[in-house]
Amino acid sequence: MKLQAVKGTHDILPADQAPWRNVHDAARTVLERAGAGRITTPVFEYAEVFEKSVGESADLVVQKEMYTFEDRGGRLLTLRPEFTAGVMRAFIENGMHTWPMPVKLWSDGPLFRAENVQRGRYRQFHQVNFEILGLGQAVTDAEAVALLYRTLEACGLTRHRIRLGSVGDPTDRAAYNAYLREALTPVAEDLSETSRERLRLNPMRVLDSKDARDQELIRTLKRPLDLLGDDARAHFEAVQRHLRSWGVPFDIDPAIVRGLDYYRRTAFEAHYEGIGAQSALGGGGRYDGLIENLGGPAMPGVGWAFGTERVLDAMAQEDGGAAEASGPLLFLVPLDDEAVDEVSALAHRLRERFAVSFAYQRRNPGKGLKEADRAGAAYAGLLGASERALGALRVKHLASGEQLEIGLAQLAEFLEGRQAAL
Ligand code: AMP
Repeated sequence: MKLQAVKGTHDILPADQAPWRNVHDAARTVLERAGAGRITTPVFEYAEVFEKSVGESADLVVQKEMYTFEDRGGRLLTLRPEFTAGVMRAFIENGMHTWPMPVKLWSDGPLFRAENVQRGRYRQFHQVNFEILGLGQAVTDAEAVALLYRTLEACGLTRHRIRLGSVGDPTDRAAYNAYLREALTPVAEDLSETSRERLRLNPMRVLDSKDARDQELIRTLKRPLDLLGDDARAHFEAVQRHLRSWGVPFDIDPAIVRGLDYYRRTAFEAHYEGIGAQSALGGGGRYDGLIENLGGPAMPGVGWAFGTERVLDAMAQEDGGAAEASGPLLFLVPLDDEAVDEVSALAHRLRERFAVSFAYQRRNPGKGLKEADRAGAAYAGLLGASERALGALRVKHLASGEQLEIGLAQLAEFLEGRQAAL
């Protein structure tokens, strides 16, 4: 029997690690400069954390997607399908709701959903997640949107677009849902099965349908933005004003909705053309009532998440593609047995400052250079009897073939200069 990875999961091999690190580093830099602290929560939670967070109106699609199982004590556990609920559970449990507001938190890591697998849709995937908790002012919505845009930019993307909308206040939302029920119930027979279910549980989500026939019906309908009340409209306009003054580009999208009940006012997504049907890199919005649903105080928040796999897919479409994996700066080759000890000691010393590998056995120069090349090294350093007599290393720049004798005492300085020039 040939063992295989679970369908919809993937390995991240050493050569693929550089772009992953790049996304993590970009998020860390942008979000921590904006005052966010990183929070790492467990990969699984008691199932109630997600059940309570999604509420009763969550479509069954969301619930069916969860990997829930019984542990040996008979408790139901769920592999996290999203970050927010677990982060909120941790926020309350650790008393962060008593901290000065706002509290800004970011996370990254794997998530699990029992999805139909296709390009951009996996069963284990990764997200970067960000939340601003405790304040309801429009400037915090704008800050969240801006930080999504800037984080994607720091990942190396240049062609991502923000789509901005509003689902209004709870009364606007209820009015819009009532309008949709009235408009769609007579034609429910023509909707897809998923949309029929959404029409029953959470009509707004019908707008998210990708089904062509659903889309035809949806095209004739009013959008959430058409039914905004005065307060929600003023808030929406203030968000736009901040984004314009900070130079963050966005497009208004009147049809943007967020799936769950507790979303209100600002809703947004980031998209990228050219990565297939699943063009959404991420999305987010303002929420109210989520912290309360989970047993905390009434406290608003705004947040977003983007999918790392989709961002990497988008990065590969940018000029120059994704960041290349890099090998060591120097690969040391012992030309005799005595040199194995010498180069290994040298490598361990140099590794305090540089990426240095070495051959674990004596090599002839030809084979040693080949090994250095295969390791992706910039320079090979050869050490044998003649080099030892000189107290030097024969250093070869592998790309150009340039050869130099470098005294062992000057080696660190030499590497410093070459590393800076790489
Ligand atoms: P969501 O948490 O559903 O709002 O999704 C936010 C982002 O996570 C999406 O825009 C995608 O980039 C990513 N995402 C969601 N589900 C998946 C999945 N099954 N596989 C890969 N990426 C996903």
